[in-house]
Amino acid sequence: MPIESWRGSEVDVAVIGAGAAGVAAARQLQLLRPDLSIVLLEASDRVGGRARSIHPFGTDAAALDLGCGWLHGARTNAWTDIAEEVGLTVDRTPAPWSDGGHRLEQNDPDAKAAAAAVNDFFGRVYEYGGDADADLSAMLSPDDPWNERIYAVGAFMTGGELDKSSVIDLGRYDPGPGPDWRVRQGYGTLIATYGLPVPTVVGAEVRRIDHSGAGHIVLSTAKGELRAKAVIVTVSTNVLAAERIAFWPPLPEKIEAASRLPLGLANKLFLRVAEPAMFPKDTHVTGSQHSRRTGAYQLKPFGAPVIEAYFAADLALDLERQGVDAMFDFSVEQLKRVFGADVGKTLSPLAASAWAGEPFFGGSYSYATPGASDLRSVLAAPHNEHLFFAGEACSKTRYSTAHGAYETGAAAAEAIAKTL
Ligand SMILES: Cc1cc2nc3c(=O)[nH]c(=O)nc-3n(C[C@H](O)[C@H](O)[C@H](O)COP(=O)(O)OP(=O)(O)OC[C@H]3O[C@@H](n4cnc5c(N)ncnc54)[C@H](O)[C@@H]3O)c2cc1C
Repeated sequence: MPIESWRGSEVDVAVIGAGAAGVAAARQLQLLRPDLSIVLLEASDRVGGRARSIHPFGTDAAALDLGCGWLHGARTNAWTDIAEEVGLTVDRTPAPWSDGGHRLEQNDPDAKAAAAAVNDFFGRVYEYGGDADADLSAMLSPDDPWNERIYAVGAFMTGGELDKSSVIDLGRYDPGPGPDWRVRQGYGTLIATYGLPVPTVVGAEVRRIDHSGAGHIVLSTAKGELRAKAVIVTVSTNVLAAERIAFWPPLPEKIEAASRLPLGLANKLFLRVAEPAMFPKDTHVTGSQHSRRTGAYQLKPFGAPVIEAYFAADLALDLERQGVDAMFDFSVEQLKRVFGADVGKTLSPLAASAWAGEPFFGGSYSYATPGASDLRSVLAAPHNEHLFFAGEACSKTRYSTAHGAYETGAAAAEAIAKTL
């Protein structure tokens, strides 16, 4: 949409942020209220947000996702049906952690003992009945020899270290039934494709939301001012907490909720494989069962000549700060344990994410600090009939996922469709 067409003028609804929640909100509004004018305002130069696919092997080959990759709870995940609707391919290869999935060393006694300890830990989290919240490290058995492994798995799930995250919040996490599937063309491609029919302005960072007027909200953006009758804010909690958007009048309860629901960090490094025959396809291998500072490695996802390395929490932050070469060296050292001392000769760095340093995100997915799980509802609550909030962190049970984000965006759209 040309900027001139909205300078000094008014749209019915402005959606801030073109990630999973923003795209879902805009599409749902188009469906429910075709009479309304809608614009999606995106700060970066692309649609998708934390869903971002790259296509190093061409558009016919499988894509690589730098952000979300798995359609968790795939049977009730709204994106699964949308993928098929827009003509993309849902790949049903079992995920490595589910039945029928492939994991190297899965029959190794250490791997079995570690998996049992991790299961027991999650059992304690889900059954936690304490009145007061606690941090996840309180759910460890002090003498368990597999605590380092539990730290690592907790970090992959929450993006934070165990002693920072809430037991109650993790106990509420439920991505829904069903397996975990993928989209061959990429989760990022899926969300960007679904967003195509929405009038979108990229490079339009919103810096101020003035909701002091009756019946309209004034947005100050990098591309000028816009008035809207209703606004949906879908930016990440770290963007809100850093007050990169100024609200007038201020909304301290939203900023506090966002600060106590920070983004954890997960980053991916794709390593190019020169000799693909060395590795089985779609197979998972753990860097170490004995250290929390470990990567998880997906060998040849979709059969592509790459290894996807996944790092979380403090390790991910350290490696992101040191750069791609450090991520690569760390991965090669870990892969040597399984594939031998020369494995590095066949590998080279291909692409990596750095979500902590990206100013429009500031991390990967939200976790609750102890005592903050209920603040997800505070964050999600509309401020009034004109100002709404959505995004993964607003979901009570499907936070940290792209389908949770979808649901919060669709819910905000439904509320606006009724009231506007
Ligand atoms: C490495 C990694 C792996 C993941 N794996 C999975 C997975 O397998 N499955 C899964 O379901 N989820 C996964 N996730 C989480 C998932 O990607 C997110 O939960 C989801 O994409 C968040 O969508 P959102 O719309 O809430 O937020 P975002 O995607 O952050 O969208 C918000 C948008 O707002 C924009 N923005 C920010 N500030 C402004 C501003 N001032 N003005 C205008 N626009 C602004 C941003 O650029 C962004 O596009 C993963 C995430 C990462 C990083």
